[in-house]
Amino acid sequence: MTFNVYMPARCIYGKNAVIENSQALASLGKRCLIVTGKSSAKQSGALGDVCSALEKEGVKYAVFDSIPSNPLLSACHEAGKAAREADFIVGIGGGSPLDAAKAVAIYAANPDLSPADIYKRAYENAPLPVALVGTTAGTGSEVTGVSVLTNDETGAKKSISGPDCYAAVSFCDPKYTYSVPEGQTVSTALDAFAHATEGFFTAKCEGAERLFAEKCIPELYSCLKELAKGGEISEELRDRLYYGSIYAGLVINACGTAFPHPLGYVLTENYGVPHGTACAAFYSPFIDRCARFAPEKAESYFAMTADRQSAKALISSLTRLGDIKISKEQAEKYSERWASALPRNFLASPGSLTREEAAKILSQVNNG
Ligand code: NAP
Ligand code: FE
Repeated sequence: MTFNVYMPARCIYGKNAVIENSQALASLGKRCLIVTGKSSAKQSGALGDVCSALEKEGVKYAVFDSIPSNPLLSACHEAGKAAREADFIVGIGGGSPLDAAKAVAIYAANPDLSPADIYKRAYENAPLPVALVGTTAGTGSEVTGVSVLTNDETGAKKSISGPDCYAAVSFCDPKYTYSVPEGQTVSTALDAFAHATEGFFTAKCEGAERLFAEKCIPELYSCLKELAKGGEISEELRDRLYYGSIYAGLVINACGTAFPHPLGYVLTENYGVPHGTACAAFYSPFIDRCARFAPEKAESYFAMTADRQSAKALISSLTRLGDIKISKEQAEKYSERWASALPRNFLASPGSLTREEAAKILSQVNNG
């Protein structure tokens, strides 16, 4: 048995984490830029708490509130310019502003870096330190060394990752997730479950990593069953979802994701499907493949969830795709992005995945 884990993010989890740990922000410097989306940072109460904590510590701040979902390189670059005087960056929001904050910290420290060159990682200066405050129970960006960015020129989502993409500190207070609308809550819960599931089935997930997965898979599955009943989402359920999403973030941080993630990007980029729902659209072919190529692990997985048909039925009932249909020709075109090199996530999937198989799976999306 071996394992090889690197998890340098300091993560402070619990109610009132920001207010009670304001010195963790002050330790990062005297001036910061707060990076958010349009409204969720205010609506969730997180921005108010962060401003109070900074004021208490005598830290000056400015707010950049124009980060869109699936953050564009251009928006992060713009925020980077606004952060030239800052000592550190605070990202507040769902995965989009959190991932954006990691990129903003790189642009701010490297004024000559052009937007798309961030992917080449060809810059000299270390990024500014980053503090993150999550407001959705989904991506786990709080604890991952990953930032998923959308290239304005190609419209394609692509991640950067590495030791310099971790937050110096992340604050995880589940109460900020209480204002997330029902549809977004379901999508982000599906994302967290996808992280736990996909990470679990990678070959890497065997040692300490497996403990994180075994902790959150049954818990997230039980939360999804609750969500499927409909009705008001209780605070208790939201607390459990956020807790599970952070564990699932630890799973992908150690193990990465598998093929549903890159296939999901196609649905987000071309049909506007929210990230979690887009990944869940490929749960069924993924789990069938796992049962075929990793039967022993699959047996452990279904013991934590339900039998295969029931698990597929539950995820499918929560995956709201509308009437998307992808023809064989269109799927073939979408798969051109994988012509020169297969993504790591394909190779990490049980049985691996070829470009041709990916195109076939895309063409079958939403076929019941
Ligand atoms: P998001 O794109 O951050 O937010 C989606 C929507 O929810 C936005 O309209 C946002 O509003 C709103 N929202 C967020 N928090 C809210 C709150 N507390 N109350 C009310 N509304 C709220 O969604 P996400 O699913 O969390 O993040 C998705 C992104 O993360 C994708 O780009 C995905 O690729 C990436 N991701 C990253 C990792 C990683 O390891 N780094 C892992 C998985 C996914 P505002 O626009 O006002 O903020
Ligand atoms: Fe994800």
